[in-house]
Amino acid sequence: MLKISLEKLDDLFAAISAKQTLYIPSDRADGASEYKKYEAGMKLSNNLNTVRSAKDFFFPQTENLVDFKMEGKNIEVIDIRKEAEDFVVFGVRACDARSFTILDKVFLCDPVDSYYKNRRDHGTVVTMACTRPAETCFCGTFGIDATAPEGDCACFSDGESLFFKANNEKGQAFIDSVASLLEEGDTAKLDEVQAKTKDILSKLPLSKLSTDAFGGDRLMEYFNSDKWGELSESCLGCGTCTFVCPTCQCYDIKDFNTGNGIKRFRCWDSCMYSDFTKMAHGNPRLTQLERFRQRFMHKLVYFPANNNGEFGCVGCGRCLSKCPISMNIVKVMKALEVK
Ligand code: SF4
Ligand code: SF4
Repeated sequence: MLKISLEKLDDLFAAISAKQTLYIPSDRADGASEYKKYEAGMKLSNNLNTVRSAKDFFFPQTENLVDFKMEGKNIEVIDIRKEAEDFVVFGVRACDARSFTILDKVFLCDPVDSYYKNRRDHGTVVTMACTRPAETCFCGTFGIDATAPEGDCACFSDGESLFFKANNEKGQAFIDSVASLLEEGDTAKLDEVQAKTKDILSKLPLSKLSTDAFGGDRLMEYFNSDKWGELSESCLGCGTCTFVCPTCQCYDIKDFNTGNGIKRFRCWDSCMYSDFTKMAHGNPRLTQLERFRQRFMHKLVYFPANNNGEFGCVGCGRCLSKCPISMNIVKVMKALEVK
């Protein structure tokens, strides 16, 4: 397998960014990490996960969809879409890489979301195998192997070098584009690292969490469960869980009058908000219980029912660490699976 010494990562990043825009996870002053556009001298974060997931690259938090100019009764529609530039997102973890498969099912089904597709076509996802999974991780519950991430090209570290494996043609093109910096490497130590990581994964607190109870014909049973009241009673409706989640994909579309024309934009929305899906007649979900239930029914029951059993969660653990009242999908799964 081709590899590069970790000491030469700066050279690798410089070579990638000379050809296309490169984004890497980088540490903030508070120790957390976030994706940033690479600039010379920037270091790759050692943190397991970024605060916000990598979904922003394909489904940004806000985006301008179309502009309008109005003169009297005439409306000029201005298509502001541009072909996206090629870009590389480096260091995506296995959980976030799987989230793109889930988002693809939503945005690339008929009718195709051309804004999302444009970015997916131009983005190369370079993933990073995990070696130090956290206690909040449970990607294995959803069949994700943290030591063998998906994405276009996967990277594996043995502590001294970074090894590259193409998962598809785009990934191979990425490797070819930096091949002059790479050399053939011995993967013996890599196999040891992988075995050690698998051992850690098998001992994580949530390693036994199962989806076995979900799916099947239990939709109404879950919907009518008496557990929702207790689970949702402290929920603040803050939406944090939805904003950090790599698979949440709800959005709102609004028009904004700039005084010099109208901008139609979309922005992330949250099913946890009281005005979510508010229509002319009002809101279909009047209580926080109903809104809370909707979020988890969607991920655990509705989405798999409509997508060949694929769940709408990748076990990244972000909602476990970010919810201000310590409520999360694991607690919901455990409460619901008890008959
Ligand atoms: S982060 Fe917690 S409190 Fe906030 S909406 Fe989600 S479940 Fe409710
Ligand atoms: S529900 Fe929680 S654990 Fe699952 S993908 Fe979303 S943030 Fe991650």
